[in-house]
Amino acid sequence: MKTKYDKKELEELVSKNINLSDVLRQLNIKISGGNHSNLKLAIKKFGIDTSHFLGQASGKGKSSPLKKRPEEVLIFRKDKDRRQTGIVLRRALKESGRKYQCYICEQKEIWNKEILTLEIHHKDGNWLNDLPENLEFVCPNCHSQIHKKEIIKKQKNCIQCNKKINKKSTKCCSCSKLGRVGKTKIKWPDNEILKKMVEENSFTKVGKRLGVSDRAVRKIIKNLIIHVIPLQ
Ligand SMILES: [Zn+2]
Ligand SMILES: [Zn+2]
Ligand SMILES: [Zn+2]
Repeated sequence: MKTKYDKKELEELVSKNINLSDVLRQLNIKISGGNHSNLKLAIKKFGIDTSHFLGQASGKGKSSPLKKRPEEVLIFRKDKDRRQTGIVLRRALKESGRKYQCYICEQKEIWNKEILTLEIHHKDGNWLNDLPENLEFVCPNCHSQIHKKEIIKKQKNCIQCNKKINKKSTKCCSCSKLGRVGKTKIKWPDNEILKKMVEENSFTKVGKRLGVSDRAVRKIIKNLIIHVIPLQ
């Protein structure tokens, strides 16, 4: 016989328990294989989060039966503390009464008929600050946008081509590369004219006239001799 589950009731029971058997017990349903899978199915259908359940792959075996209360989790952590896991933060924030939806676009946990795990955003960027006022549920899309905007804020423009660059540099990659090699955009005269110029003047003189170094002239002539001007 299939049991009809009420979503609201099931949601609450699941969030308060750490395995299916306890949920069944509280519903006064006999613990059996069939009832287990029915319950599992219903939980899946309603899209209820069971990431805090024990003995589940999603819990990575790290869940503890000693569930921490929200006020123990939502604190300003000390420097030496490791980052709190998303699972623990999510559960604590939910239990503290926070609505489980994206604080920007109000996306809830079902997306495209599948369960969508909402992420947790630390508003001040400090993941040691797990105080509730610093945390927000956010969907993956909005979350990536928040952090993209932060990166843009940290940028400024290349002094040469105005491209967006990191605040630490003054020029973009390609502009600073150009600067390093000493390449300036000059209009080289036609090969024949250049050849004549070099025949009649020193490399240094030609370079001065063209506004480049004698090395640059030498280089271009070397290329011409190899590729363009047939050996006499
Ligand atoms: Zn969103
Ligand atoms: Zn974030
Ligand atoms: Zn540039």
